[in-house]
Amino acid sequence: MSDAPFTVGVDIGGTKIAGGVVDDSGVVIARARADTPHRSTTPDVVENTIVSVVEELFTQVGKDHVGAVGIGAAGFVAADRATVVFAPHLSWRDEPLQLRLVGRIGLPVTIDNDANASAWAEWRFGSGRGEDRLVMVNLGTGIGGAIVVDGRVERGRFGIAGEFGHMQVVPDGLRCECGNRGCWEQYASGNALVREARSLISAGSPMAQDLVARIGGDAGALTGPLITAAAQDGDPTACELLSDVGRWLGIGLANLAAALDPGIFVIGGGVSAAGELLLDSAREAYRRQLPGRGYRPEARIVAATLGNDAGVVGAADLARHHDGSLTATALDAAAALEPALAVDDAPEILPEGPLRRARLRWRRRHTD
Ligand SMILES: [Zn+2]
Repeated sequence: MSDAPFTVGVDIGGTKIAGGVVDDSGVVIARARADTPHRSTTPDVVENTIVSVVEELFTQVGKDHVGAVGIGAAGFVAADRATVVFAPHLSWRDEPLQLRLVGRIGLPVTIDNDANASAWAEWRFGSGRGEDRLVMVNLGTGIGGAIVVDGRVERGRFGIAGEFGHMQVVPDGLRCECGNRGCWEQYASGNALVREARSLISAGSPMAQDLVARIGGDAGALTGPLITAAAQDGDPTACELLSDVGRWLGIGLANLAAALDPGIFVIGGGVSAAGELLLDSAREAYRRQLPGRGYRPEARIVAATLGNDAGVVGAADLARHHDGSLTATALDAAAALEPALAVDDAPEILPEGPLRRARLRWRRRHTD
């Protein structure tokens, strides 16, 4: 990689595309953001939005000071880290995002799953520092997850490792949008928290009285942060609802410990703002559920510390440490792309490196 001091990270979420210029100690020194285009728009629209966020950042710090760009996207990213296989909030289907962006941005680009980026950031700069086997679980509307082992993200053979939210914890349980029933994220997530609170409210339970007062009787106004705020103010019902989510969290973590035996679980995502109100019951359920409990060391269960910055910082730092380099598979894919997908002037713009050489080979093959 170049000796430029900064890298750019871009976090593509369901509602916002957040970008940041990040230094080698994980500090965000400049920011830019845009709304995520609706999923009905074409891939070009999303790509244009990403490029405009990145260019705004270049304007702020000077492009010469940036060595690479890392993208973290909610969705399945292929193991070559070049292609987004599927993104639930966007129109991307087998989208060759790296190739599309690298010609326009003119720097090495790496693509990763957003949970992988967050886990990397927590391992490098957050509450997972010093642990060589880390599992991150993000409780948002659903559950995202990732594994960092011995200084690298474990992506799986197809790039889709870490989808913990769809492990079944309740046979024939609640229906999940993935198509199955009883998935973990139906019980331990922001959506689960709000659903349980709503059902208390719609049953007219006197226990929901404080929550009802907070939303002025409008059930649509109920959100996870509002329930967390009520719990922090001492509402016993809100505390109980968070504790229930925590219990399901602990049960799922015990399953993950059975498979992965990490040293630490880092809990991120919006619901983790509840802190100990959530984690106390998670630890208790974890201890109760851990296979071989009493005869093995227990992983620590801690809250993430980087908050909303984790995605941007992690994507930027992954770009820094992975050098924008490509696997042989990705190079073959780049060389085999249809002309319609080719960036015509890419060989002139691309920095010297394997991708530029692949593009030149491709061009020679198609112009002879
Ligand atoms: Zn599911």
